[in-house]
Amino acid sequence: MNLFEAVKDAVPTIAAAEHYGIEVKRNGMACCPFHDDRTPSMKVDKRFHCFGCQEDGDVIDFVGKLFGLSPKRAAEKLAEDFGVRYEGLQTWQPQRRPSVISKLAAAQEYRKKENRCYRVLCEYLHLLRDWKEQYAPQPEDEDWHPLFCEALQKMDYVEYLLDELISGTLEERTAIVKEKEKDLAGLEKKIAAFDRRGTADPQRDSFPGKMRSTRFPEELAM
Ligand SMILES: [Zn+2]
Repeated sequence: MNLFEAVKDAVPTIAAAEHYGIEVKRNGMACCPFHDDRTPSMKVDKRFHCFGCQEDGDVIDFVGKLFGLSPKRAAEKLAEDFGVRYEGLQTWQPQRRPSVISKLAAAQEYRKKENRCYRVLCEYLHLLRDWKEQYAPQPEDEDWHPLFCEALQKMDYVEYLLDELISGTLEERTAIVKEKEKDLAGLEKKIAAFDRRGTADPQRDSFPGKMRSTRFPEELAM
């Protein structure tokens, strides 16, 4: 809505009259400010009409006449005094410059994330290296152990990620941290699980290859 529509829609004349100090009786009658009125002869509701001097109009006419303002200025005054928002309203906003403190906090927060990402990927890489050795296929194995497969699939990629985190630009590192953040919790769980029982699988020698290969079905989302 434009200024005029918005003001007329939001502010009934009776509200403006009372706001600017005119006493309105319960029946909506008031002493007319536009002629010398001893008995209330002006009716105010959404609009106004004086039965004495025949002044008549909407809230913008009312305020314009009351303060000697052009319709536009009267409407602007009403918008300001009643907090009316309208199309094209210029609102003053402080320049959004983050404070040094919030910048520092953001940098610290990021560093924490990057450190976590680096630590988890390092631990995962160690795990993958162990798996590659410990679960290397034996001549009698029909299937490759899934952890050996995972090691083969992921080692190069994880090494690449770590290399980027060590020597990449801030932009490259941020991209990796952002992309890998969602996988970290899953990796941490996985690492913790293997920490608890040690990387060596105690069942290794007692399981035939086929059964062993079904023991770690959970796919890693990386
Ligand atoms: Zn009048």
